Amino acid sequence: MLRFLPLLPLLSLLFSSAACALMPVALPKCPPKRATCIALDLWLPPQFDDVAWLETQLEVANDRLAAIGAGVQVVAIHTLGEELAQIDTVTQRNQLGKLGKQTPLRWFVVRHLADAADPNAVRKGVTWRAGEAVWVIESQTGMRWVLAHELGHVLGLAHSTEAASIMNKKPRVWPPPWQIGFTAREQPVMRRTLMRLVKQKRLALTRPE
Ligand SMILES: [Zn+2]
Repeated sequence: MLRFLPLLPLLSLLFSSAACALMPVALPKCPPKRATCIALDLWLPPQFDDVAWLETQLEVANDRLAAIGAGVQVVAIHTLGEELAQIDTVTQRNQLGKLGKQTPLRWFVVRHLADAADPNAVRKGVTWRAGEAVWVIESQTGMRWVLAHELGHVLGLAHSTEAASIMNKKPRVWPPPWQIGFTAREQPVMRRTLMRLVKQKRLALTRPE
């Protein structure tokens, strides 16, 4: 019996790495030369394996945040319990906020995100607040720009009517998607909010690699 004991830590290590196969290092990093890299704490539903979707979300966010010299980088990955893998109610949105801490910024990816007012309506993403705390909830069906859009909210932006703004939710034919980002009007607000949130320790930064 005793001779098997040393194996136990190894077995538990193997088990835990199998349960959370995806590591932060496997995801796109904050690009070099960005002045600030916002650290993200990623929460995924059980059995989530769409790494390409995560890569696209991070790449678009990093591409658009270049306008303010910022970027994002996932520093930790966790698995959500089944009870919060689908978010239908305001109560569940608030329960997500009890997982982890305010920093690094929590990015919750869920299988389904219902509208807060109309449970039959589907939402792709929401920036949810409780007092001083803020976290991002995104449906795993979110389009490629949803994380970037929610980060705009985190950094102090409301929805916009500017055609070139990623904060404008209205369908439009111009400009083309690759020209839609954070506009000259929005960038100073984002820079100021980012500096303030970091100073207040409500956002944590990480180092670009
Ligand atoms: Zn929005």
